[in-house]
Amino acid sequence: MERPADPDPDSDPDPDSDPDPVLRPRPPSPLQEVRDERFDRHGVRLLLKRDDLVHPELPGNKWRKLAPNLRAALAGGYPGLVTFGGAYSNHLRATAAAGRLLGLETVGIVRGDELAGQPLNESLARCAADGMRLHFVTRSAYRDKTELPARAGAGDAYVVPEGGSNALALHGCAELGRELRGGCDVVAVACGTGGTLAGLAAGLAPDQRAVGVPVVGGGFLEAEIRSLQAAAFGGPAGDWSLAEGYAHGGYARVPRELAAFAADFGSRHGLPVERIYVAKLLWALLDLTGAGAFPRGTTLTAVVTGRP
Ligand SMILES: *Cc1c(COP(=O)(O)O)cnc(C)c1O
Repeated sequence: MERPADPDPDSDPDPDSDPDPVLRPRPPSPLQEVRDERFDRHGVRLLLKRDDLVHPELPGNKWRKLAPNLRAALAGGYPGLVTFGGAYSNHLRATAAAGRLLGLETVGIVRGDELAGQPLNESLARCAADGMRLHFVTRSAYRDKTELPARAGAGDAYVVPEGGSNALALHGCAELGRELRGGCDVVAVACGTGGTLAGLAAGLAPDQRAVGVPVVGGGFLEAEIRSLQAAAFGGPAGDWSLAEGYAHGGYARVPRELAAFAADFGSRHGLPVERIYVAKLLWALLDLTGAGAFPRGTTLTAVVTGRP
């Protein structure tokens, strides 16, 4: 007699550890062609991977990275989630929303004790409205995160690292790469921690390559991506490189010409352009295309990782 097959986690979801029936994400995200003479002129076909549409409250890479961690937290019976971020962190917001939807307590450890007792900015106010307990720490305390969950009273919560980038998250982002197989030659994505690029590159086909555009200067990302890939895949995975020089002064800096570029791109193509990551990515692609970095005939996909 044949042995029954092992249960397939995709076709036979365990209702207690599968977040999807509650979160109801919508992968694969759409791939849209945009006609833009600034790319056409160089023989480059531009596609937008609308990963911002994958979930209304956990857009793009935030859902890709959190989903496997939420599954692990639910399967492990953890009472809640604890994570880390700056005052404008999209990752904190997505974690807070996931906690509300799944009935998990959330604690957000926020960099900058000067924020304690101040009115919350819009991003943190949304976290709080979703039930996230915010714990503000000094910049120096924030550097070493090991003790912080316990000190914030969340010692038994599931720890999601800053930016959500860990080995599980990379596996979630590899699925984004698999969705893009066969559709283009080059896939480009903006990088904060680099976790999305690290996972995405691993999911692409061997004849495709990934380009990351860091939104922070400093050149530390390459080593970070290597160590993330080693943790997730046991070694280097996929063909990827970084295009440095497009941070526009640093994280969350949006100089006037970048803001104007984002508004113009948005009105040309009917797409609200998120400015901290997506605008810097699109700017970089236009600049690289103009400089002849992509041979004529290249199909280039820009991953729209989030929305304003
Ligand atoms: C968080 C975020 C990123 C950065 O992703 P990493 O995996 O940290 O590199 C890119 N785009 C948007 C819109 C984000 O919110």
